Amino acid sequence: MKIRDIFHLLAGRTLCLLCGSFDYDSLHMGLCRDCLSELEKESLLGNGETRNCRCCGIRLLSEMDLCTECRRYPTNQRNMALFSYHGKAGDLIQFYKFQSEKRLYLFFAGQIDRALRHESLIDYALLPVPPSRKKIFKTGWDQMELIGSELKRLGWPLIHPLAKKEGLSQKKLSREEREREIIGRYYLKRSKKGLPEKIILLDDVYTTGATLRECTRILKAEGAEDVRSLTIARD
Ligand SMILES: [Zn+2]
Ligand SMILES: [Zn+2]
Repeated sequence: MKIRDIFHLLAGRTLCLLCGSFDYDSLHMGLCRDCLSELEKESLLGNGETRNCRCCGIRLLSEMDLCTECRRYPTNQRNMALFSYHGKAGDLIQFYKFQSEKRLYLFFAGQIDRALRHESLIDYALLPVPPSRKKIFKTGWDQMELIGSELKRLGWPLIHPLAKKEGLSQKKLSREEREREIIGRYYLKRSKKGLPEKIILLDDVYTTGATLRECTRILKAEGAEDVRSLTIARD
């Protein structure tokens, strides 16, 4: 037994977050084997049965290759989403983001690693979208960076060229307000190192895609040629 497992045992954290059953595997990741295999079936990537919008990554029900939203608001963003933001995966994201169930970073990083390899996107640098300093101060941790650190351990190049300025929370804004408010909220940190040509932005949830489009615009203006994004969920 590893030291971190003893810690989880002492803290009473031995149960699956989703179904509450006891499973030794829950100790390190918070999920039992049954729920893990259910989640893999819900996955939108690496699962030959689903067709996804090529711009936002949402699961498509029609034969079109773009969803109604991306037809209505055309975008050049190329986003992949691991899951829809409902069902078991939606619950997990809520546990991770709002209840600080940090051990889920192992599950999310593993899923991202698997999806990128499945899509043959192996020569990209990964860039976790940075939160504002205010958010880190409030929550005490950086959710996407923790996932990024595990991806780095798995061998992916991790880069941090962007920073975020303080501003209004985007949560209650309309689509148009989000698009306006996001301009200028991110900037490139001063660095002598150039950007890699191929970058994948990592973020938690794709809602309107405004943040990812703005980060993509900045990176491309600075010379990155191929900028895509991957989110844990598509809302
Ligand atoms: Zn379970
Ligand atoms: Zn779409």
